[in-house]
Parts: sequence; C-alpha cells; structure tokens
Amino acid sequence: MSESRDFDLIVIGAGSGGVRLARMSAQKGARVAIVESRYLGGTCVNVGCVPKKLFVYGAHVREDLEDAAGYGWQVPDDGVRFDWPTLVANKNAEIERLNGIYQQLLEGAGVTIIQGTATLRDAHTVAIGERELSADHITVATGSWPSTPDIPGRELILSSNEMFYLPQLPRKAVVWGGGYIAVEFAGILAGLGVETTLVYRGELFLRGFDDDIRQFMVGELEKKGIRLRFNTTINAVEESGTGYAVSLSDGSVMQTGLVLAATGRRALTDGLGLEALGVEFTTSGHVQVDETFHTAAPSISALGDVIGTPQLTPVALAQGMVLSRRLFGDGEGEMDYRNIPTAVFCQPSIGTVGLTEAEAREAGHKVVIYRSEFRPMKHTLSGRDERSLMKLVVDGDTDRVLGAHMVGPEAGEIIQGLGVALKCGATKADFDSTLGIHPTSAEEFVTMRTPVA
Ligand code: NDP
Repeated sequence: MSESRDFDLIVIGAGSGGVRLARMSAQKGARVAIVESRYLGGTCVNVGCVPKKLFVYGAHVREDLEDAAGYGWQVPDDGVRFDWPTLVANKNAEIERLNGIYQQLLEGAGVTIIQGTATLRDAHTVAIGERELSADHITVATGSWPSTPDIPGRELILSSNEMFYLPQLPRKAVVWGGGYIAVEFAGILAGLGVETTLVYRGELFLRGFDDDIRQFMVGELEKKGIRLRFNTTINAVEESGTGYAVSLSDGSVMQTGLVLAATGRRALTDGLGLEALGVEFTTSGHVQVDETFHTAAPSISALGDVIGTPQLTPVALAQGMVLSRRLFGDGEGEMDYRNIPTAVFCQPSIGTVGLTEAEAREAGHKVVIYRSEFRPMKHTLSGRDERSLMKLVVDGDTDRVLGAHMVGPEAGEIIQGLGVALKCGATKADFDSTLGIHPTSAEEFVTMRTPVA
C-alpha cells in the first residue's frame, strides 16, 4: 500500500455493500474513506427493505383487527382509525436511528465519512467538490435507482422512493410492474385501504419465481381486493381533476389518485466518469467486473446493485466481505450465487430458495415434485379465506432437494432455515427424517410424503 496516497481505499456509496466493505477493510488496518451524497445505509435502509417492511407490518394490522373477531375480541368499526402521517413519521424516526447507527459503525471502525458527490478524476483520484483525494483502490458501490419507462406523463408517475414520503394516501392507486416492488407495494396499499390495480405487461407476474407460486399468488392477491390486469401496459398518464387518467394498452382509461412505477432499477453510475477511465459496462448498463469485482481499470472495483448481480442486500454484504478479503486480507474468497434465499413481502408473503420446477427441468434433472396447499391454522377461527402453498423440487436420481418454495405467513422466516439445508445439500430423505414442530405451517416441509403426479 502506498503511503503517498491519502487512503488505501475510497468507497463511493454508503449502502449495504459499500459500508460493509469499508468497515471490514478498516478493521483489517486499511486507511479507508467512504463518500456518500445522500444517506448512510443506501436504498435498503432509507427507501427499500427496512421502511418497506415497516409499511408491510402497518398494512397487515387491518387484517389482524378483522381476524380478532373469530378469537372473541370485539373491535368496534367506528373505534378504529388509521393515520398515515403517523406511520410515516414513526418510520422516519426509525430510519434516522439507523442512519446514526451506520455512522457509529463506520466511525467506530475508523472509516472517514465524506458527505458529497464523487467524480473519478483518474484511476486513483476521487474529487468531491473542490476536494481531491487519492487512494490505491477505489470501489464503486453506488447502487441502483428506479427506472420508469419513457412515456407521456412520466413526470407524474411516482417511484418507490417517493412512496416512502407520501404526504397522504390516495383513495385509488395504479401500480405498474410485476416484480418484487410492484407486488409488495400493491399489498401495502391494498392493506391500508387503497383501491389498488396492478398493471403488468406479461401473461403472469413474478417472472423468475416458480410457476405454481406465481399462479397461486393471483388468487391470493385477488382475495385481498387487488385488481390484476395482465397483458396490459401503461401508454400515457395525464392529470385529470384532482388525480390522473391512465391510458392502458387495451384502449381503456383508468382514473386514479396515484401511479407507481415499479418497472425495475438501473445501475447508478451518472457523473462518475467511469467511461473515460476504461471501465466497461454490460449491455444492461451495469459496471462489468470479474469474479474478484475488478473492472477493466485495475485499481477500480465495483459491487452491489451497480454490477447487476441479484439486487439484494445480503448479496451486496457478502460481496463486500469477499472484496475486503481480496484487497486487504488473505486474497482469497469468492461469491457463490447458487441457492440465494429470497422473500417477497407481499401478503401472504413468498419465500423461495434454489431451483424452480422449470429451472430444474431445463437443467436436465429428473424432477419429483411435492406440493401441499392448506389453510393456515390461524384462519380456522379467523374465518379468513387465505391459503398457503409449499412446494419442494427434488432430483429423482440423487434425492437432493433442489428448490423449496412457499406462499404463506412468515415465508421469509421459514425459508431462511431451508436455505441452510439446501446449502448443505440436504436430500428429501433428510427432510423426511427431520421432526416437525407442531403445530406450525413450516412442519409441512418435512411431512410431505407423496409426490404429485
Ligand atoms: P423487477 O426486476 O423485480 O421487476 C420489474 C418489473 O417491471 C417486471 O415485472 C418487468 O416485467 C416490469 N417491466 C420492466 N420494464 C418494463 C417496461 N418498460 N414496461 C412495463 N413493464 C416493465 O424490479 P423491481 O423494480 O420490482 O425491483 C428491483 C429489484 O430490487 C428486484 O429485482 C429485487 O432484486 C430487488 N428487491 C428485492 C426485494 C426483496 O428482497 N424483498 C424487494 C424489492 C426489491 P417483465 O417481468 O416482463 O420483465
């Protein structure tokens, strides 16, 4: 490491991956600075995972109150009132607390925090306003940003960023897209009493998830009152009265109070000056890196959403650990992108790990499927018509469990454990010899004995 430079490492972007890399590297003795133009914690803490989950909890309270009656609790209709500004204010306070914790973690590790927008002057120099700082290594961890199709009225359409700070809830909302964010926000809005329509351009939403899960979610979301309009897209949005008129591709026009685009996220590299330094980009606009996270410019690395690997906080965290080890540790370590467990926090939620049935077939496995659909015990007394689905994809030759998928309450909590099992290469026989925890929904995963035809 060169003492003539200001730092050993400058990290651009203090999101999940950048903060982890900075902290781990500083703890290994490196002189580290992190530059951030917005907020500590990045998308996840400020306008993503954390506030989203708090909103999901908030939205679910309505059902909990309704379900209470079956358990003997009388909740007077006229005594219950939801106040959106209170939820937003409480959420904001929690986010501020987390911002403070991120600051303490970084400072505690000896990382220099620099507030401002970074530009790369050369392969070892970062400019933040008038200030120029040099480093042996520079890591781009600038994340991603919502991307909205360029249609007439685009400026009237909100992204998930703004949803976290809405001054008030509309009576009606249109959600555009069929991925994680669209389905999660449709659930939040509907749960909070907003008449919600989800518009998706394809045949069936949640592309990439197991087909049984996708199909099952159609019924479950419709039961929650969410209107699903597939094979449809938005052509234009214009102001209409106090709301908006949304022109759809089937020729119809919908009146709504809010349009949310959840149509994917693009890599955030604007103004960094990477092109001039020889850094290459993928066709999707992500920074191209090798398996050690290095770009075509040897001193510049990148990780997290900006490189186009799965846009998930735990992936960015793991990448931060690997890169830190590579730069300042034993020089070893690599990412394993197989069997990444993930959850969609819609209602009911989705949890998944490993191969879908279609992926397993495509990979040439002799596929055996186990599937169970049932009404969760809680809803025997609540009377709610909400069902759960669990599915195992097994290799018929080796007996290995290739994938576990579910829809139901706490799907993420359940699938996290199965992620360990799949990582260890568990077989169906291992699942069968595992005792269940009774009575739970999760025990279904170890009690499915008969494959589906
Ligand atoms: P996704 O990539 O998950 O979904 C984007 C959706 O928008 C898809 O349904 C896609 O359709 C549709 N779409 C894309 N372009 C257009 C277009 N031009 N016109 C109409 N529809 C379009 O992105 P999200 O924005 O939902 O989320 C971004 C990422 O953030 C996720 O992939 C995930 O990695 C991460 N995330 C994770 C969460 C979690 O872990 N719970 C929660 C939220 C986000 P099609 O399928 O046809 O391509």
